[in-house]
Amino acid sequence: MTRTARSEGLEELLEGNRRFREGGALAPRRDPERRRAVATKQAPWAAVLTCSDSRVSPELLFDQGLGDLFVVRTAGHVLDRSALGSLEYAVEHLGVSLVVVLGHSSCGAVTAAVGGARGPGAVEWVLAAIRPAIRAEATGDADAIDAAAREHARLTAEALEAAVSHAAAAGDVRVVPSFYDLLTGKVELV
Ligand SMILES: [Zn+2]
Repeated sequence: MTRTARSEGLEELLEGNRRFREGGALAPRRDPERRRAVATKQAPWAAVLTCSDSRVSPELLFDQGLGDLFVVRTAGHVLDRSALGSLEYAVEHLGVSLVVVLGHSSCGAVTAAVGGARGPGAVEWVLAAIRPAIRAEATGDADAIDAAAREHARLTAEALEAAVSHAAAAGDVRVVPSFYDLLTGKVELV
């Protein structure tokens, strides 16, 4: 995908988000014909790393269809080795060159990390991955939590870009940090 095509891809995602939040979602490419068309081969044109939160479904909030987006979701959109391997696969083997890292408001994982929580078992791993995004002076109010979520999206995108650029044959992958507001439905770039 060329630089222009990537910009158009990002525009398409933001345009789909506008339809979604304004109540004009087209719910495109979800019919039986599309299902059959992509059954033997997928060709997603963008990848999304986002939170497992039940309210942050990329195909819905970007108003896309079957086979459009390669999606990786973990609590707090934490980039662990499996998430990284999945995205490397998307870049290397599926030719995806636009990756959106999407944080969101009122994220439970970020809220817990800002509040200084320590997790049981592997939950602690999730919290530890978010901590670098928290400012020392951060309080537990909503603005501080959302600021940490934005910063976490930015840091994650940075780490991901560094990791996949060497994996990509062309070294030409755009990773875009962004933030989704649960209340307004709007995705903004960070
Ligand atoms: Zn979340």
